[in-house]
Amino acid sequence: MSTMDPRQNAGYRYHRTNPLTGEPVAVYLAAAQRLEWDKESKWIAVCESHGSLVATSTLALAKSASKEPEEWCDECRDASEYRAKHEDGTRALVIGLDGSMRDEYIVGLDDLTRLVGGPIQALSVPAWEAGARVTVGEPVGPHTMYVNEESKIGGEQPRLNVVADALMVCSLMPSDWVAGVAVVVGYNPDTGEDVDHTLDPATVLLDAATSAEAWTNVASDREVLGRARVANVEMRYNDGSDALATIGHVYANALAVSRA
Ligand SMILES: [Zn+2]
Repeated sequence: MSTMDPRQNAGYRYHRTNPLTGEPVAVYLAAAQRLEWDKESKWIAVCESHGSLVATSTLALAKSASKEPEEWCDECRDASEYRAKHEDGTRALVIGLDGSMRDEYIVGLDDLTRLVGGPIQALSVPAWEAGARVTVGEPVGPHTMYVNEESKIGGEQPRLNVVADALMVCSLMPSDWVAGVAVVVGYNPDTGEDVDHTLDPATVLLDAATSAEAWTNVASDREVLGRARVANVEMRYNDGSDALATIGHVYANALAVSRA
């Protein structure tokens, strides 16, 4: 089983292409592979992509198993589930507390609950019209942000989600703020349904930097404002990894002052 052409391997009898990987799932005579444990394991079907195998008593069963690698290969099962979600799910932008952003395909409430770590609360993220808010990106349609409803009433100290909060900056009550992991999906006003998000993470980050600067203007704290501007410039011209930490710090300070 060392080559991707299974016909070269000892005991080869049959193979088909695994639609999940584009690589073979092959059937071998177990004894020829020194894998015959007993009479019930005369044949083996092998996922050549992941090295998983299943033993069967007959060739027919092994061929049958080779058609469903997601039933016995963990990695194929994951790939199959991911593919199903990719086809049926809604593309969401998951915004972490460290400012990280990644796409996930969510199918239902369970996925949202898992990602935010508790019961969900939906917040309306208004469409960004050019000039209508502090934004540097292209105008985008309305979105919905899901957060943990209990993120600020649990035992642990709630943590500000700087980037998610910046997205909400024009639409929350002045004293309100976003805590914990946030999951953002698009919103179709005609159907009321969640749809794929259309946010560009780089623009969202840049927007957070601009918002931080705007908030510190409100806070009228010169030192904090200066750092926000530096962070904003870094975000525009560098990769922004250090700038994000600065923005987080600046933003938290500014919010503490302006929303107190
Ligand atoms: Zn596999």
